[in-house]
Formats: sequence, C-alpha cells, structure tokens
Amino acid sequence: MNRSSLYLSGFSLTSSPLPLLTCPALGVPHGFSTRLGGVSEGIFATLDLGAEAGPFGTGASGVSQHVLLNRRRFAEALGFPANRLICAKQVHGREILSVSLDGAGKIRAVRVGDSPGVFFRGDSVCEESALNGGGGQNLPSDSPVSGCGGRGLPSNSPLSESGGRNLPSDSPLSESGGDCPPSGGESGAGFVCDGFVSATPGLLLAVKTADCVPILFSDRAAGVVGAAHAGWRGTVAGVAASCLAAMVSLGARPERTVAAIGPCIHPCCYEVDDPFVAAVSASSFSSLCLPHILRTGAGRYTADLPAMNRSILLACGLREENLFTSGFCTGSSCALFFSHRATGGKRGLMMAGIGRL
Ligand SMILES: [Zn+2]
Repeated sequence: MNRSSLYLSGFSLTSSPLPLLTCPALGVPHGFSTRLGGVSEGIFATLDLGAEAGPFGTGASGVSQHVLLNRRRFAEALGFPANRLICAKQVHGREILSVSLDGAGKIRAVRVGDSPGVFFRGDSVCEESALNGGGGQNLPSDSPVSGCGGRGLPSNSPLSESGGRNLPSDSPLSESGGDCPPSGGESGAGFVCDGFVSATPGLLLAVKTADCVPILFSDRAAGVVGAAHAGWRGTVAGVAASCLAAMVSLGARPERTVAAIGPCIHPCCYEVDDPFVAAVSASSFSSLCLPHILRTGAGRYTADLPAMNRSILLACGLREENLFTSGFCTGSSCALFFSHRATGGKRGLMMAGIGRL
C-alpha cells in the first residue's frame, strides 16, 4: 500500500518507495522529502540531498556520492531519471529560472520574473494598507513593528493580466556555476537561483531546504509547474510571488494554481530579534509579512514564515482553497526532518520536487 494513512491539511505521508510528504491537490508527480530512506550517515543521516560535500570540496561540484545516490532515489521515487532532477545553488534571493529542453534534449534555462515588483508593488501596498487603516493582526499595539502591517490587500491585483508583459526579456544563462549539475552527477554545470518553473514534461524541478520554506506550484490546465525556496530573506523579498509570476509567464493563471507549502520551521521554533524585524520592515513585502511577527518580549519575537508566504500568495491571486500548508515544523520534528536551527547547522538537506511526466 503506497498511499498511507496520514492526512494533514491536504497533505499525505507516503512510505513507499521512499518516505515522502505529498499534497495530492497538486495533481502532478511531486514530493517533499523527509530525512528517511537514504544512505548518508552521521549528521547527514540518512536522505541528505545536498549538504554533504564531495571529494572536491564544497561549492560548484562538491556533493558526495551519498548525496548523488540519495538524489537518484528521490528522483526515481517520483518517476524521473536522476539526470532530469534540476536544482540550483540557492542564494536567498527571488530569481526564478524557466527550464525546458532544447532540440538536442539539453536542459535550457532562462531568467524570468526576477522582479516581483513588476507584479507586486510592495511599497505601494504598504502605503495603501496604512491608508486603509490596516494594522498588524498579531502584534501588540505597542509593538515597534505594528506601523506598517496591514490587512488591506492591494486594490490592483499584483498578478493582473497586464503584468506579464513587463517581464525581463529572456536572457540566456550561463550553465556554469552552481552546485547541482542538471546531469545529476557530472560536474561543471548548474544554476544559481531560488526556484524554477517549467512547462516541459520530464523535468523534475527541485529546491533544497532544512527549515526554509519549500513551495511547490501546479496549474494542471496550463501544464505549468514551479518550485520555490523561501528562507526568510527570500520570503520577504517575494520569491513566492516571483515564482508565481514566472508561472504566469508560461501560461498559468493564479486563480487556477495550486500551491503547497511544505515542512519548514514554524513560529514555535523560530524566535527572531530586532534586526530581523527591521529587515522585514524594510522589505518589499513588509505589509504582508509583518503581521506574522509576534512580539513575545523585549527584543524578542516569533516569525511565521509559512503564514507570510500564504499571505503573499493570496495577495497574488491564489485562491484560499488552492493553498495548502503542511502542519510539520522541521524544528520540532528532528527525527523526520533536517533542521538547521535545531542542530546548529549540523544537518543534511531535504528536497521538494515537482514535474510533469
Ligand atoms: Zn517547531
């Protein structure tokens, strides 16, 4: 029995051939890995999909044989050959690459939607929210961060029909650099970005996390999928909006798109400080993110990254019924997931992957 038994907020934990968390509403092959089912050892045990360095050190080509074997298991569990698993050196930004296959079957990537401001003018959202009297929902009235948070959504949809016209023109990307060879094992090729979109069958788009927020997207009618890595910097920079914008550029529609926010650190384990709050306040998406910071004491707060991403995606036109959030906190479930915070950085990396077959 491959389908299991545990359903949480639209998610299902499958056990065979590999323990994976899935969100069936996505409707295409996908999975959020756990730390179970791999061959890595020690702090990387067992399904490390990206942290352990190979014999050539960390960086461009440095992933271990264990990681390569684990990646093969992950890809094949989702029905893809290992050489079609695409991931990147992630840089906590908001750049999304659109990947496809060229006539010779080589993976090609172009930069799209690297400016969510094209779709979502965060600064004006902030001003509008203030005008609408929106205050932070979760903040005490004396909170230093309550000034700009808002319930009010922008009157103009950030992903309006006209949005797609302003995308930067396709620019060929270097296929060198990055830590994840598209070939799944050969060195020397890779991408630097924080997410992918594609309308091409046969490609498994993956992002790596260990507390950061993995988000998978699917518009089945358009045949477009996406994956985004949203740490706190990427979250407040709007990488989720950027990924959705990139999907729209391939024909997806926000109101039809399903998004699944996978296992990540939740506020129970994510205490932050004044500099964090200041950085969020200065971000493009401050009005949507600040309400999800809760002050717990002098200079102490908790931040809810999945809720921030939910708010951003809803503001971008996703329907609430198409937006799913796993209840799993990586920091609270170290037997099941890798957590950067809970281990002081001594951990492997999980993957969230999605593709069409
Ligand atoms: Zn927790």
